[in-house]
Amino acid sequence: MATLSGKTAREMLKNHTDLISSEIAEGTGAGIALATRPDGLRTGLSIWFSDLERNQGPVIELKPKGLKSHRVELRFGNFARQIINQISEAPDEDMNLARSLIESIKAEAQVEIPGQAMDSWLVSDGGFRMHATLRHAESSDNPDAMIATCREVIVPMMAAMAELIGYDVVLDEDEDGALEGTVTKREIVKRERNPRNRLLCLRIHGHTCKSCGLTPSMLYGSAGSIIEVHHLQPLSSLGEPRKYDPRTDLAPLCPNCHRAVHTRKPIPYSIPELQSLMGEHVD
Ligand SMILES: [Zn+2]
Ligand SMILES: [Zn+2]
Repeated sequence: MATLSGKTAREMLKNHTDLISSEIAEGTGAGIALATRPDGLRTGLSIWFSDLERNQGPVIELKPKGLKSHRVELRFGNFARQIINQISEAPDEDMNLARSLIESIKAEAQVEIPGQAMDSWLVSDGGFRMHATLRHAESSDNPDAMIATCREVIVPMMAAMAELIGYDVVLDEDEDGALEGTVTKREIVKRERNPRNRLLCLRIHGHTCKSCGLTPSMLYGSAGSIIEVHHLQPLSSLGEPRKYDPRTDLAPLCPNCHRAVHTRKPIPYSIPELQSLMGEHVD
């Protein structure tokens, strides 16, 4: 297999940085700054949240390791004290989502948080580090390998940090009166719209509608990233309060099915209920 020269790889990477930054921005719900670092013949990337100075928050460095691997390291800048304080006060639900996002990274990527367990890690001081190494079939200079590393490792890592920092989920208050009523309802809409919940839901369950089986990305190609995330079990319908778990409480639905389950209010149709309604009209 021919290997790319550093120059060609950098040019190809430049063409892909827009794609990479839009994927990260979509998955995290935060603006992303991205810089390529030409290291001789090797190309590296630095990624951070664009509303923070590079040394005031988490920064991810992607570097080639050997011929076919990437090493990704997340650390905090020297002036990140304020953000670290903010993160240390993140609610349990956000912490749970952040840990689930990191757990969703494939085992081959060998994620490690030195000195901490993967199911109970915390960001408590500026010494926090998280790193991963991902091996590819192609050269580490290859932009496709870069994109795979971004999708598999960097997007969930940055999304976990965005959740802990608490980047806001913007809700449209007017939409269908969706937010009238209870705090619970507001929480559920917020979870359905949270880009980090969405990312985790799609990483776990894939891009196929759980009700009708449609995969919008197969039907509409690049216009098909319209799958939505539904909160399966509204807390208001539970006999007793139960801890919200993004791994089990969210399901991907196509926009039609999502709209259909919410036609019953306040408690939406369950997916089996919707499926049996659909069955009534198939002759
Ligand atoms: Zn559907
Ligand atoms: Zn829903």
